[in-house]
Amino acid sequence: MHPLPSCPSCRQPMEAHRFTSNQGHVLELDICFACQGLWFDRHENLKLAPQSVVELFRLLHEHRTDQHQPLAERMACPRCNTSLAKGFDVVRSGRYMIYRCGRQHGRFSSFSSFMVEKGFVRHMTRPEIDDLAKRVGAIYCTSCGAPVDIRKDHACPYCRAAFSLIDPDAVVRAMEGYAKASSERTTHATPSVDIGDALVALERDRSRAERERQKRAFTSSSDAADSSFTGDLVAAGVALVWALVKD
Ligand SMILES: [Zn+2]
Ligand SMILES: [Zn+2]
Ligand SMILES: [Zn+2]
Repeated sequence: MHPLPSCPSCRQPMEAHRFTSNQGHVLELDICFACQGLWFDRHENLKLAPQSVVELFRLLHEHRTDQHQPLAERMACPRCNTSLAKGFDVVRSGRYMIYRCGRQHGRFSSFSSFMVEKGFVRHMTRPEIDDLAKRVGAIYCTSCGAPVDIRKDHACPYCRAAFSLIDPDAVVRAMEGYAKASSERTTHATPSVDIGDALVALERDRSRAERERQKRAFTSSSDAADSSFTGDLVAAGVALVWALVKD
């Protein structure tokens, strides 16, 4: 019915993907992989069916090496072009940022906000933070997206959120909760890869993709120092979930 909506941040057409809700309705979500966000029309606030959760994780994982860009200062509603209002919502597992149209057309949510909203995220334990600090210097805050020095800070200095990451077990549990009716699901083993390994593997994939892009663009390639990257916990968590649910 609608033309392809443009991304509230970069104004490029978003990719429309069809999912199924928990109740069996068709849910169309518009995704911008460069801005790492989702647009939900007014009623698209329903729970996704387990197969759709898997499909969404597949998509996010497939696009893990896409080029990213920061969100614009002014976010515009894809339907009426008025500025979206930025706000915070709170759930048990944390606080997340959301952009809403004042005329009720819908809302824009970053991938990480979506993960927090769905209860797919948990706080990191002190030993996990210490362990990660040995491998990466900084991470992007899952609540606000700011790069944070995890060797120095104990919570995000910008939004005060505790450090958190995607919990693959919580995702699987949620999916099993949605799928109460279907009993054929086998129990999953805990993932054998840890988040530190996943961050390093992701960074390797991204620098390889970046080198490919530079080759294609005939620019001189500058190899970034591998040991000082900022860890993308959300994308690494997506990789862990995908490894767990893909078959
Ligand atoms: Zn965009
Ligand atoms: Zn609007
Ligand atoms: Zn933050």
